[in-house]
Amino acid sequence: MLKGPIKTWSTPVTGEQSRVIPCILCGGGRLKPSLVCAGFSYVRCTGCGLVQMNPQPLAAEVARRYQENHGTDYLSYELANEKTFLHLQELALADAGFAALEKDLLAKAHPAILDVGCATGALLEILRERGWETTGVEICTPAQAYAQEVRNLDVRALPLEENHFPAHTFDVVLASHLIEHLNDPRAFIQEVHRILRPGGYFLVTTPNIGGFQARFFKNRWRSAIFDHLFLFSIKTLSQLLRCSDFEVVQVCTWGGLAAGTAPGALKRVFDRGAKRFGFGDVMLIKGRRR
Ligand SMILES: [Zn+2]
Repeated sequence: MLKGPIKTWSTPVTGEQSRVIPCILCGGGRLKPSLVCAGFSYVRCTGCGLVQMNPQPLAAEVARRYQENHGTDYLSYELANEKTFLHLQELALADAGFAALEKDLLAKAHPAILDVGCATGALLEILRERGWETTGVEICTPAQAYAQEVRNLDVRALPLEENHFPAHTFDVVLASHLIEHLNDPRAFIQEVHRILRPGGYFLVTTPNIGGFQARFFKNRWRSAIFDHLFLFSIKTLSQLLRCSDFEVVQVCTWGGLAAGTAPGALKRVFDRGAKRFGFGDVMLIKGRRR
């Protein structure tokens, strides 16, 4: 029997104003209970399978979670785990064939990359050293200030849509563990499409509700947390990308068993299987802008 995993850090459950919303993927209103957690719950759309928190906290309330006290907590969490998170991001990018893409783009000129939800800017700093023109977006103001002041990066504190970047600005947009926190992931993807150059790439990383751990642990799954408003599968996230005129060119998943839930040898077998057969706990989808 597997031990329950430790849940991902989240802001605490509070009595925020919330409302029932239709499915943001297919517009359907036939929503069945999916995961019930302490103080919040998710529904699954019977039409398309999308899992979303419902009732859903209002956007203005959600934005406040990443400011002031909680913002400082988030920065502490990011700083404490910075090396681990950076290593995981680099492994994910390697699996998604980022090196080849980077080689092509850097050979031409100074390509532009945007990291949305860039936290302390550790990845952007490395990309800048390799020759990328880097921009970040981070609405957690203490983390944004850290990236800007300590790393001297161009990081904007407003949500993506409010920065009004000119159309066709970026060659690549990254969003790692970000899209599941948003109230309107569809509008977000549409904005990514607008600011990418034709043929540009969007690499989006998020927990995979179709993975083994989500299916096994259900409401104890480490990613079923108050800050995650949407829990995507490969199918639902691919569909959302296609709705916004992206071609899904690659899907990777990884992470078979969470650290500490099983003996090392068993974990290694599961991790290899998850990567190979697509039942990993986290996924990366590479979309190409049409
Ligand atoms: Zn639906």
